[in-house]
Amino acid sequence: MHKIGDNLTGVNHRIQGAALHALRDPSSIRLLAVSKTRSADEIRQAYKEGQRRFGENYLQEALDKQSHLIDLPLEWHFIGPIQSNKTRAIAEHFDWVHSVDRLRIARRLNDQRPEEKGPLQICLQMNVDNEASKSGVVVAELEELALAVTELTQLRLRGLMAIPAPRTDPAAQQRVFQSVASALEHLRGRYTHRKEAQIPPLDTLSMGMSNDLEAAIAAGATIVRVGTDIFGPRQPRTGI
Ligand SMILES: *Cc1c(COP(=O)(O)O)cnc(C)c1O
Repeated sequence: MHKIGDNLTGVNHRIQGAALHALRDPSSIRLLAVSKTRSADEIRQAYKEGQRRFGENYLQEALDKQSHLIDLPLEWHFIGPIQSNKTRAIAEHFDWVHSVDRLRIARRLNDQRPEEKGPLQICLQMNVDNEASKSGVVVAELEELALAVTELTQLRLRGLMAIPAPRTDPAAQQRVFQSVASALEHLRGRYTHRKEAQIPPLDTLSMGMSNDLEAAIAAGATIVRVGTDIFGPRQPRTGI
């Protein structure tokens, strides 16, 4: 019963330690608890321990859990691959989407976002291991996508997300994360000639998971997405 609480404490300590090591303010890094395959009860336990932000990969599973947790003031982040027939529900039921990698999906999210909810917070998913992963925008196409997304008024472009292939060497992990940070920096430079009101915040680097959050924080992560080290090893998904 206390396990999730202990795990959360442990992960928050790791974040603080990594921040201090990198001479960063620990409060500039937010923990996203990745709750895919976990139950609504486990999310509720994490909430009782102070956790507010949760990340989900599978729409139907997420909607089921959300319906059991409507009494809690949670912030929901969609972090999985997005099929176009799922955009409406994602636009209606989430606060953030980290996994936008094409304009067609961005346009649908924009058009389907209920006005009263205000803009949906968006990260563009970057493909940092070109051949290993099919999702994510390649760096050569990032700028064009970012500039187009900026024009969509129901979306607010916050930054970049990446899921690098697993690496064990911390220096190698950090190099990949550094390339994402550089891409964001480069993108910021593309907006300098604009009026303040037309510049997206670009304040977010969503990167780092259970095994590499220290390297991600050293490279500038502002959101780390942690599942296993909070909730324990995942069970295989059963046909959703
Ligand atoms: C599952 C998942 C995570 C969490 O990974 P852990 O290794 O369990 O911490 C983070 N980000 C994404 C996109 C995921 O799918």
